[in-house]
Amino acid sequence: MDAYLRQFDSQALEVDRDQGRIALDRTAFYPGGGGQPHDTGALTWDGGQATVRRVGRDAGRIWHWLDGELPAPGTELLGTIDWDRRHLLMRTHTALHILCGVVWADYRVAVTGGNMEPGAGRIDFELDAMSAELGRLLEKRVNEEIVRAHEILVEFLARVEADSDPALIRTKANLIPAHVDPLRVIDIVGLDRQADGGTHVATTAEVGGVRVLKTESKGRANKRVRLAVTDHPPVPSSGEAV
Ligand SMILES: [Zn+2]
Repeated sequence: MDAYLRQFDSQALEVDRDQGRIALDRTAFYPGGGGQPHDTGALTWDGGQATVRRVGRDAGRIWHWLDGELPAPGTELLGTIDWDRRHLLMRTHTALHILCGVVWADYRVAVTGGNMEPGAGRIDFELDAMSAELGRLLEKRVNEEIVRAHEILVEFLARVEADSDPALIRTKANLIPAHVDPLRVIDIVGLDRQADGGTHVATTAEVGGVRVLKTESKGRANKRVRLAVTDHPPVPSSGEAV
């Protein structure tokens, strides 16, 4: 699915009145997963409309929980994604992958966890030590890679190929169940490759910039970096070493 698709035509496939949710014959709403929250938005149809409050997977289907009326099965629908929220999530998600790429390039340590909301997120690393100084250094490195405008590609890789790709092994793609074949891979060209189901911007420049909000130790070999996306990389203040 094209991550830049904001609006799509669809049809109501199954309507679950008890739970106030519907499944569509196709959808561009992201159902959540891999640390990226679900989309929100709206459905409109001839004579009706509803807000999409939540989207998620259940029993092999993607369900849309609606506020407002439910359309009848078979109704032709127009889906509209809340683009401000989604694009901010794309920038945030990509920023976190850039951070993973930088930490791997500079320290050769893997990720142990992560999460995000629109505009901010955190990643945990197998680092021995963390400090405010390291946080500032990582912020500078991530912003450098943003400015380099690395292209970002979505690839589908045969499992046999993915399982022998060193970049994917270090991001623990081998922990994904073997029946998932091919694997969807997000390639920040020249910086980071990982198996991922989320939505990302087309180049690192589109992230804008980042600010490290907080660094924390969550235990031995588990160090947390929390960052926010900004419109531009920070301008170095006078007196700061360049
Ligand atoms: Zn990801």
